[in-house]
Amino acid sequence: MTLTDIAIVGVGKIARDQHLPAIAEGGQFRLAATVSRSGGVERVENFDTLDALLEARPGIGVISFCTPPQVRYEGARAALEAGRHVMLEKPPGASLSEVEDLRALAGEKGLTLYATWHSRHADGVAGARAWLADKRVQSVRIDWKEDVRVWHPGQVWIWEAGGLGVFDPAINAFSILTEILPVPIHVTGAELRFPSNCETPIAADVSFAGPHGLTATADLDFLYEGDPFWTMAIETDGGMLTLTQGGAVLEVPGDRQGEGWGDQPGIHGEYPRLYSEMARLLAAGQSEVDTRPLTLVADAFMLGRRVDVAPFTDPTLKET
Ligand code: NAP
Repeated sequence: MTLTDIAIVGVGKIARDQHLPAIAEGGQFRLAATVSRSGGVERVENFDTLDALLEARPGIGVISFCTPPQVRYEGARAALEAGRHVMLEKPPGASLSEVEDLRALAGEKGLTLYATWHSRHADGVAGARAWLADKRVQSVRIDWKEDVRVWHPGQVWIWEAGGLGVFDPAINAFSILTEILPVPIHVTGAELRFPSNCETPIAADVSFAGPHGLTATADLDFLYEGDPFWTMAIETDGGMLTLTQGGAVLEVPGDRQGEGWGDQPGIHGEYPRLYSEMARLLAAGQSEVDTRPLTLVADAFMLGRRVDVAPFTDPTLKET
C-alpha cells in the first residue's frame, strides 16, 4: 500500500506522545516533514515556517496541526489555500467563527478538513452510543478532573485567552457526550473559577438541559492530584450507563466492556483510529467538522458567572 505523505505542524507533547507513534505504526501515512520552532523530529526534514514547507514540498498533501488553538487558524487556512488536506487537533480552533471559515474554505476547494475529537475514539464510546440509542436519557453527571501540572507541563498558552484552561480537557467530555446522546443538549449556566493571574478558568461547574426534562452537570477541576478522574454517568429509563477512564471503560446493567488503562493512565488507541479515519475521509473525498463540543464550551463562557480564585503557580511555567 502506498503511504500518503503528511507533515506535522507543532511538535509538542501531543505530537510526540500520540501523533508520531500513530503515524509510524498506522500504515497509511509517512511523516515527510515537520514545521517546528524547536527542531522537529530526528531524521525528518524540518521547516521553521509553514509557508516554507508549503512552497518547498508541494507533494505533501496532508498537514496535521498539533499547535495550540490560538495559532491554529492562520496555518490551517494557509494550508487549505495551498491545496492541502488538513487535520486539526482538538479544539479545532480558538473560536467557532474560525472553524466555520475553514469548513467553508475546505468545501469550496474540495479538500478534506478533519476536526478530530480523539476521545470519541476511546474504547467504550461506540458501545455507549449504541446502548443509549433506544433509551430515554434522564440525567447526566460528568466529573472531569486532572492535574494540569502533570498533563500540561510548561504550557503557557493554556492560561492565555483562547487556551480554554480547564475546558481544554473538559471539551473531551463534551465531545463524548455529543457523540453518544440520542438527543441534543445545551448549556444553561456555569460558574467559572479564574485564578487571579490567568485568563482562563482552572475549575468550573456547568449545567445543561435537553428535551423532556433531561438535565446534566459537569464538575471540572484542573488541580486534581493523582490519576485523572474522567467519568460520565448517564441515568436512563433502562438503567445507569457509566463511562470511566476517559471513555475507555463502559458499564451498563449486566455488562462491562473495555480493558481500561491498567497502571498507565492516559489515552490509549485513540490516535491510530484518528489517522485511520483521516485516511478514510481522504479516500471518500469527505470532510468531518463537528463543532458541537466547542459550542458547549463557548456557551459556558457566554453564560458563565466569573469567580476569582487564588493565583495559579507552577514551577514549570516560566511566565507565571
Ligand atoms: P504543547 O506541548 O504546548 O505543544 C504545542 C506545540 O505547538 C509547541 O511545542 C510548539 O511546537 C508549537 N507552537 C507553535 N506556536 C506556538 C505558540 N504560540 N505557543 C506554544 N506552542 C506553539 O501542547 P500540546 O499538549 O501538545 O497541545 C497541543 C494541542 O493538542 C492542543 O490543542 C491540545 O488541546 C491538544 N491535545 C493535548 C493533549 C495533552 O495531553 N497534552 C491531549 C490531546 C490533545 P514547536 O516547538 O515544534 O514549534
